[in-house]
Amino acid sequence: MILILLGAPGAGKGTQAQRLMNEHGLVQLSTGDMLREAVANKTEYGIKAKAAMDAGELVTDEIVVNIIADRIGHDDCKNGFILDGFPRNVPQAEALDAMLSEKGLKLDHVVLMTVDEEELTKRIIGRFTCSSCNEGYHDEFKRPAVDNVCDKCGGTDFTRRKDDNIETVQARFETYRSQTEPLLPYYESKGVLSKVNGMSAIEEVAGEIKAVLGV
Ligand code: ADP
Ligand code: ADP
Ligand code: ZN
Repeated sequence: MILILLGAPGAGKGTQAQRLMNEHGLVQLSTGDMLREAVANKTEYGIKAKAAMDAGELVTDEIVVNIIADRIGHDDCKNGFILDGFPRNVPQAEALDAMLSEKGLKLDHVVLMTVDEEELTKRIIGRFTCSSCNEGYHDEFKRPAVDNVCDKCGGTDFTRRKDDNIETVQARFETYRSQTEPLLPYYESKGVLSKVNGMSAIEEVAGEIKAVLGV
């Protein structure tokens, strides 16, 4: 199955992608995670992407399209994958269509998770992740069972993203509205778009997504 999770920053895409990965063996392809890794490793793409990421703007289509084209060719993507954070504008969506048709693959579902901006801001400001396994947490909404110990891997080191601050969040919302929202009519017209209420609790959103996917 090939699935796109769409939604504003903080909508819960990464959280739901990780659940689907754990429960259904689908691979999560997060361009944000891949770019942060490239920045940390100071690769050529990382060096080019850093300024745009810090400002809450999109990095160039060339970089993310190349990263995804390379990644979906790997063996672990053979049984399907979840795109989390890609595509983020119409040219990226067109590039994805071309890549898939070249490989004889078909996009099964695009799931939009809707959440209002007040809630998105709370989610982003309280977000942190396990440095070892990348499991996502929240100060209020998803604390580890034991403080400062990752539920999944037992790690005790956590990180907060540099762009998860109140100023950059506003720029990221604006980028989402102007560049990413035009994907909604794009996928609606292809008949693959479904909407779920992203305001509900994590478990409920997961249930709604499973109903859409039929898993
Ligand atoms: P995205 O990948 O869309 O940017 P995340 O999955 O990282 O979003 O979620 C943002 C933050 O909100 C994380 O701290 C996560 O634990 C929390 N979160 C995710 N889904 C929900 C939900 N349905 N209700 C409350 N908090 C949530
Ligand atoms: P969030 O879901 O919280 O917005 P991501 O981790 O998906 O965050 O993305 C973080 C940053 O990485 C974005 O603000 C942007 O600069 C860059 N980025 C991620 N995916 C893409 C993409 N498909 N195209 C362009 N830039 C991207
Ligand atoms: Zn962990």
